[in-house]
Parts: sequence; structure tokens; C-alpha cells
Amino acid sequence: MISFNVPPYVGNEQNYIKQAVENHKICGDGEFTKLCNSKLEEMTKTKKALITTSGTSALEMASILAEIKEGDEVIMPSYTFVSTANAFVLRGARIVFVDIRPDTMNIDENLIEGAITPLTKAVVPVHYAGVSCEMDKILSIAKAHNLKVIEDAAQGVNAYYKGKALGSMGDFGCFSFHETKNYSSGEGGAILINNECDVERAEIIREKGTNRSKFFRGQVDKYTWVDVGSSYLQSELNCAYLYAQIENPDLINDDRLNSWNTYYKLLKPLEDEGKLELPVIPDGCVHNAHMFYIKLKDIDERSAMIKHLRQYEIGSVFHYIPLHTSLAGQRFGRFFGDDVFTTRESERLLRLPLYYGLKENQVEFICEKVKEFFR
Ligand SMILES: *Cc1c(COP(=O)(O)O)cnc(C)c1O
Repeated sequence: MISFNVPPYVGNEQNYIKQAVENHKICGDGEFTKLCNSKLEEMTKTKKALITTSGTSALEMASILAEIKEGDEVIMPSYTFVSTANAFVLRGARIVFVDIRPDTMNIDENLIEGAITPLTKAVVPVHYAGVSCEMDKILSIAKAHNLKVIEDAAQGVNAYYKGKALGSMGDFGCFSFHETKNYSSGEGGAILINNECDVERAEIIREKGTNRSKFFRGQVDKYTWVDVGSSYLQSELNCAYLYAQIENPDLINDDRLNSWNTYYKLLKPLEDEGKLELPVIPDGCVHNAHMFYIKLKDIDERSAMIKHLRQYEIGSVFHYIPLHTSLAGQRFGRFFGDDVFTTRESERLLRLPLYYGLKENQVEFICEKVKEFFR
């Protein structure tokens, strides 16, 4: 049996958790939290990285930091995870969904400007599959219209756009360390803060709205409630697990890229015959092999492929149901312009198994069975 996903485990996780236990410091902001924060700062060259309890909570923090308020509009793709939208809906915003590009499944940067109204406050590019959105264009539109940019880089840890780390280009970037992501602590995330002036407030929001971080650094002699906030601090035990994986991030990255490249090489002939389509990596994007997907003719062919692979115990899964077609999506948002690609492409996309430790011969077996489907 080949599962769709197996959570990453590289070897030192249990040692580090043991150390955290022996340090008698298992709540947040201990040694391993700090190691994770500084490693992420080094990898992304950002002013500040703060580990959070999830990618969802990183997005919620970004939404508070961006000062999203009742009635504001936030632009994002409809083809994304619910948390991308919820973080802003929780602050009273309305979501304006924009169509995606069929090649990368990312927001179509050329449609964003038309979706802007006097109420627009922010734009949220989602770097699908760890492949960057067209950030030069998005950042220049945001600058011209004075919008905040919050990158949903949940899938984009250790991926790059023109040499810059995903998550490091907007005002805020959000990572996820959920067990389905490249690096994982079970549940977990991080927020990247790119402007020095937002760092202090981020620490406060993460500490339930108190200035406890300043207190621990000896900068104030007691800590009190100073702002809104919540419990966004991750446990040391989770950080210990995560640190084992990010202290040498290329171990996981290289392994995943090998599988990705094998898939690509073995399935390319099918693409050349017009049987399916493979992911597109635009120039300037260095991806992290977060996902390997194929695109079939339509939803029926996809269902048949899932069934075909299941008889060989190969786990393949589809992905997001476009948010604008969901109950909450209709209540909290609207689609700008026409849904040309979002629904159509999402119905054709099928994700194949990809995880740290997936073996070359397993990838070969899966590709053989994909080929068999078309015979
Ligand atoms: C995984 C994911 C999230 C949420 O991350 P959690 O850590 O599960 O809260 C948000 N956005 C995208 C695009 C994701 O893939």
C-alpha cells in the first residue's frame, strides 16, 4: 500500500523532544522555539519569524496586524484552503475571489487590479504547491493602491521567487507545519514579519495581547494587557519535533525533489501524447516539491483514475472545492468576473503520493499504473 501522505520523520525528533522534557520547559518560547524562529529568519532573510500553533493562526495574526476591519475587502483566489479566507472573515472582512491561472493554479495577477474597490485593504497570494505567484506584479499593484500583502506560503517553506523566499516578500508571510506539509510538527505554523515596525505588535498579539515577551527580556518590570490577542504560542514539544527537520532543510527538500523529478520524467511521455497535463514551474520559481499533481480531462476521468489507482492501494486525492461555491464562501464573499479556470481546473486536478521517504521504485510503480489506465 502507498499512502498519499506520511508525516516526515528524519531521526532526531525524539532526542530533541526528550531534551525539551529534561529542560523542564515545555510551554512556548523555550530553547527550541527560539532555534526554530532564528532558523526560519536565516532561511527566509526576514526581520522576524515567530512560530505559531498553526498556519491558520499565522493567518489570523496577519489579519490582525494588517488592521483588517468590518467592511474591508480582501482579494484572494477561490482555489485555496478555508483558513486563507476565515482569517479575514473573523475580522469582519468580505472576501473578493479572483480567478486562477490554469498553469500554476495561482491567482491570476492580471485580474487583481480590476477587483480593487475603495474598500479593498489587502491581497492574499497563495503559493499553490510551493510554486510562487507572480510577485513582482502583485507587489507593484499593492504599492500603487496602498494595499497590504499577506502571503499564504503554507505550502511554500524553502521555495523561492527570483531568489527571494516565499513568505518574505509581502508585509506578512504565513507558513504551515501541519503533518501534510513538507516540514511538520503535527500542527504548527509560523508568521514572517517583514517590517520592523510590526514586530513588537506581533509578539503582543501572539502572547494573548500582553507585553509578556518584553517582560521576559527585562524591558518592562511587569506585564499587562495592552492589545487584542490570542494564544498563538506553540508548545516546545512541537518545536523540538520541527527543529529536527528544519535544522537541515535540504534533507527533506532533496528527497521530495527526487520523487517529483522522477514523476515528471516518467509521466512526460503521457503529456506529450495529450493524455494528461503536468505541473508548470514558471521561470524564476524554485519550488519545494510540495505536491505532484496531474490534470486529467475532466472530473469523470479523475474519478475513474482515483478508482483505478485504489485497486493497487495507491492513495491519490483531489484538492480544494472552490470557496466561492461553498455555503460560507457565498455568505462571506463574491467572485469577481468570470470563473473561467477555478472550477474547471480544480475538477481535473489529482494529487499523487509525495512524502519524505517515498521510494523511487514506488514512484515508478505509481507511474506504471497511471500509464496502464490509458491503455
Ligand atoms: C495547510 C494550509 C493552511 C492551513 O495551515 P494549518 O497549519 O493546517 O492551519 C492554509 N493555507 C494553505 C494554502 C494551506 O495549504
